[in-house]
Amino acid sequence: MIRPILIHPDPRLKTRATEIGAPDAEIRALASDMLETMYDAPGIGLAAPQIGVMKRLFVMDCIKEEGAEPRPMALIDPVVEWSSEALNTYEEGCLSIPEQYADVERPAEVEVSWTDLDGARQRERFAGLWATCAQHEIDHLDGKLFIDYLKPMRRQMITRKMQKMKREQARA
Ligand SMILES: [Zn+2]
Repeated sequence: MIRPILIHPDPRLKTRATEIGAPDAEIRALASDMLETMYDAPGIGLAAPQIGVMKRLFVMDCIKEEGAEPRPMALIDPVVEWSSEALNTYEEGCLSIPEQYADVERPAEVEVSWTDLDGARQRERFAGLWATCAQHEIDHLDGKLFIDYLKPMRRQMITRKMQKMKREQARA
């Protein structure tokens, strides 16, 4: 089931999500909905707070090559265990901030541990777009958006554009 995605500004996007622990059928159904919603958008990552569910879960698939096998991932209670000193800059966007993009500098590689949908703890080192995406999504679970890394002027400009867009959508 495709779920509606919250658009910034929304207090739920600024709130820390809570730990899940052992996943049950409800969490597995939620992860499945989130993957469907992410692919439909289309996007490469989606965190539960973006659909108004305040739980520490995100999905991602950063495979972009045409014809390559997809790699849908669902990460429950993710923790950044290690970050590289080397940094990387990517032009980031967000399904909750449509059509706005900005360069954000983050560690180039991160090692993340998480609980998978079977309840097993996993650990993997991510690089490139995967590393950026994982950090962007984990930020969502802490109520942080990529525009929080920008200078206040730029952030306010984007927020005003989103407020205007939401007003126009409400009128339509
Ligand atoms: Zn986002």
